[in-house]
Amino acid sequence: MTFESLGLSPALLRALTEQNYATPTPIQAEAIPLALAGHDLLGGAQTGTGKTAAFGLPLLNRLSKQTAANGFRRPRALILVPTRELAVQVTESLRGYGKHLRLNISAIFGGAGMGPQVEMFRRGVDVLVATPGRLIDHMERGTAKLDSIEILVLDEADRMLDMGFLPAMKRILAKLPRDRQTMLFSATFESQLKQLALEFMREPRQVQV
Ligand code: AMP
Repeated sequence: MTFESLGLSPALLRALTEQNYATPTPIQAEAIPLALAGHDLLGGAQTGTGKTAAFGLPLLNRLSKQTAANGFRRPRALILVPTRELAVQVTESLRGYGKHLRLNISAIFGGAGMGPQVEMFRRGVDVLVATPGRLIDHMERGTAKLDSIEILVLDEADRMLDMGFLPAMKRILAKLPRDRQTMLFSATFESQLKQLALEFMREPRQVQV
């Protein structure tokens, strides 16, 4: 199994070669073709399995194929994560995979000043990585506009629920276009999470490692 055979664009393949990624991990081999085909995904995966590339590569592939429909560079992909540490980590990984693409990838999270984050939205962002609470703050201020989101990722969804983010997640989900691709990754699937997936996803395909 190679990344070439999964159907990724040459610019992404080049970045992977430069980072010495030779073979897709099991979750990548399963998830990438399904995600590229446009399916919603429910992924059961712990950290360390390569799940960031499993959702990140198809996401970047899709965004790089079509230029933004809006000229304002409002976010087209939203990745919700439970902590600032994960926000930073996911952003760095995606910037690495997307280094040969002209996409802006930025993060917002609590505990950091609002000023630079407001400025980031003003300049334009294609892929937004966010913790739920801080995203709500920006939505209330009117800096984060989510009407152009084409792809939503919920990363470590079980941890977001454990941290009490369910109300924030529901408020965010309610503001997103219905016509979008949704990918949810979680180490565990409690009933609350299954309920959320049933409500907000469209015939998700399951991938498990
Ligand atoms: P993640 O589970 O996404 O946090 O990834 C865990 C680690 O594995 C990160 O350091 C990635 O850079 C690395 N990684 C992910 N996929 C691959 C791959 N296919 N080949 C080599 N390293 C990888």
